[in-house]
Parts: sequence; structure tokens; C-alpha cells
Amino acid sequence: MIPTDDIMEESLDPQDWDAMRALGHRMVDDIMSYLETVRERPVWQPIPRQVKEYMQQPLPGQPQGAESAYQDFLENILPHPMGNIHPRFWGWVIGTGTPLGALAEMLAAAMNPNLGGAEHVANHVEGQVIDWCKEMLGYTDDASGLLVSGGSMANLVGLTVARNTKAEFDVRGRGMPAAPRKMTLYGSVETHSSVQKAVELLGLGGDALQMVPVNYRYEINVSSLKNLIAEDRAAGYYPFCIIGNAGTVNTGAFDDLSELADICNREEMWFHVDGAFGALAALCPDLLELVHGMDKADSIAFDLHKWLYMPIEVGCALVRSEEDHRRAFSLTTDYLAHGGKRGLIAGSHWFSDYGIQLSRGFRALKVWLSIKEHGIEKYGRLILQNVRQASYLARLVDSEPDLERLAPVPLNIVCFRFMADGMNDDALNQLNQEILIQLQESGIAAPSYTTLNGKYAIRAAITNHRSRRDDFNLLVSEVIRLGKKLIK
Ligand SMILES: *Cc1c(COP(=O)(O)O)cnc(C)c1O
Repeated sequence: MIPTDDIMEESLDPQDWDAMRALGHRMVDDIMSYLETVRERPVWQPIPRQVKEYMQQPLPGQPQGAESAYQDFLENILPHPMGNIHPRFWGWVIGTGTPLGALAEMLAAAMNPNLGGAEHVANHVEGQVIDWCKEMLGYTDDASGLLVSGGSMANLVGLTVARNTKAEFDVRGRGMPAAPRKMTLYGSVETHSSVQKAVELLGLGGDALQMVPVNYRYEINVSSLKNLIAEDRAAGYYPFCIIGNAGTVNTGAFDDLSELADICNREEMWFHVDGAFGALAALCPDLLELVHGMDKADSIAFDLHKWLYMPIEVGCALVRSEEDHRRAFSLTTDYLAHGGKRGLIAGSHWFSDYGIQLSRGFRALKVWLSIKEHGIEKYGRLILQNVRQASYLARLVDSEPDLERLAPVPLNIVCFRFMADGMNDDALNQLNQEILIQLQESGIAAPSYTTLNGKYAIRAAITNHRSRRDDFNLLVSEVIRLGKKLIK
């Protein structure tokens, strides 16, 4: 007989389900009130010293209980947000999330499936969402796709497929040292740093990424690009990929994607588009012109957590050729063998064959629920609303003698600075930096900054479904007020 009397078996489920259910209801109530009243609070505030100290406690050995842990969350975490859920957050390019998106994260975590593979419905939800992504972007419907953490990972996935497909040798087996000649890629100087990171990770060497100059609209200079490719070929390099920008991070510029597609076609190069936020301009008939040619890309990287307002994290990589995509990543060991007709291991399409992760979360659910909640046309209207708000802000800036706009506004990003007579660029840079910090510390608004031709720019990137025109009026009047106070 097997003795059982001395075994105390445990689990992480609550002993009192009713208490856990009540706590869950409280959490939903608290978080909905929090979102409903977000406009009434400061955008951002410095984190109090005692809160930072609170995060230096030793590893808890003994249970505190769910209610008490939640109380600590309410006191020490919830009151100190990044601010990107606030209507006057326009820093970097960061989305706001939505109430249903937050609830969807809870549902996904409760089901807790692993979307690396196997036959269960979550994989079919992701397949559906990827199909919708292709439709949103007007991309070929037989393309392959993968939901990823964001644009950085989507760029890495796209560029991995580009490298492996274009390599003149067995890059998976032999590695980059076996390359007969240096493989080079091309993107404008405005290309996002995540592309550089991907190039480095792929072992191509940072110097393989040729940074092409831009025109006054911050779009890639196509004749410089052609010259660089010709020079590199003459020098014995192997130009294999062009990265086109659909919405640059500094100013929202679009490269001439159609022209880049033609060059890739002629030169037999891979055409990758980084459309982290700008690709979604495809949802607005009024903006469609900007993404003209994107459908000719061999791969596209874009985000759903920026301009589709989904909770962070979710981005998407699309690859024209399913076979190229799979060949770059698929690695099926015995313990992962699949493709049978029956049981949990059935289903030949395992997402782990198309990316780096094996265990993968159910990020598809928040996208699926949100698109069903609002319909895609509403997202198109919100994107256009943000673009119109950017033009409005640009007009406000242009109408103020104390302000100077520093770049064209083709999309949703406005770069400007406060001007003061008799100050050189260095002094203006310092002044505008101080204005920005005071804007943030006062909790009024949270733009970020960039540097354009040596000039420090206050930069508002609008991917915020909660912003209203009044918010931009306030931004402009506060920048002028702070600027004037600082030069007094
Ligand atoms: C934000 C951004 C990325 C990186 O995307 P993440 O989701 O932050 O990883 C890449 N390219 C551009 C143009 C971006 O704006």
C-alpha cells in the first residue's frame, strides 16, 4: 500500500473562491474608475522617494495574501503611472490602451494558452488577427505573419528572413563568417534604432547598414541611395536589402515606397518596410497615398500597441513568402514534432516555426476583441483624427510668433521650439529642454524631444484616442508661458 497520510499537497488556487471573486470585482471597479477619471489627474509626476524605497524590500518568504498585496498595489503602484493613458501624453510613440483591452489581458491570462503551437483555438484567433492585419494594410492575403512584442521584434523577424533568404550560402548552418562577401542594407538616416539593433544581432555588423541622407522632408534621398548601392557593388559588397520607412520616428516622414520597391525589384534586393505606426495610415482613405507601394514589400513590421491603441505589447511581422518565413525559423526537434491529424499535437501551422519564441502569449485576444468591439472603420477615423490634430497643432505653432516649427508635418508628429530674440541655438536648446522638463514635472503635458539639424525640438507624437483640440491649445499656451517666464 502507498502511504498518503503524511503528504500535504498544495496549489496556488484560492482556498476561498468567493473572496477571490470579490477581489476581482473590486479590481475591475477600481480600474474602470481610474480610467474614467484619468483626465483629472496630472499626466506624470516624479516618483516619491518612499515609493522607490518601497521597491527595495527583500524577497517575501511568507504569504501576505491577495487582498493585502492588492492594497500595496493601490498605494504604491497605481498612483504613479508613466502617463501614456492620459489625454495629454504625446511622448515618443506610445499608445494609450483601452478599457476593453485591459479586460482582454485578464481573459487571455485566465485561459493562459501557449501559442507556440498545438491544436487549440487561441492559435486560430491569432491566425484570424493576422489575416485582418493583412487586410488592414492592403497586403497580399497569402502572406505569412506573426504577432510579436512590438516593432523592434517585428523588424528583427523581417530582417532575419531577408538575410537568410538572400544569403548566398547556408547562413543557418555555417553562420556569417562563411559569407563570401559583405552583405549590406540601406535605410535613411531617419531609420529607427531597432533596425540597427536587428542588423547587429544578425551578425551583419552595424557598419553593414548604410545610412542614406534625407531631403528637407526627411524622406530618403533616392539618388544617393542608388549611388551608394552602385558604389558598394563596385567595391565587392553584396547589397541585399532596403528598409523603407512608413512614418519615421522623428517626424513621421514616409519614404517613396513605390520607388524603393522598384529599385529592389531591379537590383534583386529584399524590400522591408518599417511601418511601426505609419503603416496604419492605410486605414484612412485620405492618407492612403502615403503608403503607396507598401504592398510591394517582401516584409512589413508594424505595431498594434501604438496607433491601434492596443495595450502594450503587440506588434506584427508580415512576410510575403510563407516558405521564406518558415525556412528562416523552423526547427523541429522530436519533442516538438507536429502535423498529425488528431489530438492536441495536430495542426501543421505552429507559430513557433515563424519566430524566435517557443512559448508565446495570447496577445491576439485583445486585438480580436477590440476590433470586434469598435469595428475597423472607427480605428481609421481615430487615426485621421490624430493626423488632423497634428495639423491643428502645426497651425497653432505657425500662428505664434514665439514658436518655431522645426519640421514638416506629414502625419501625426509635430516638432517645434520656443523662440527668443538674440539667443543662439545652444541657448535655445537649453531653454527648450527646461520648458519640456517643467511641462512634464508640472503634470500638464508629456511631449518628448528630438534634435533636428542641431536644434532641440519639443516633439508631440499623437497616437492618443483621448486627446482633444483643447489639449493642444493648452500645450501651446503653457510652452509660451513657461518660455517667457524662463527668459525674464
Ligand atoms: C516604435 C518604433 C519601432 C519599435 O517598435 P517597438 O514597438 O517600440 O518595439 C520601430 N520603428 C519605428 C518607426 C517606431 O516608431
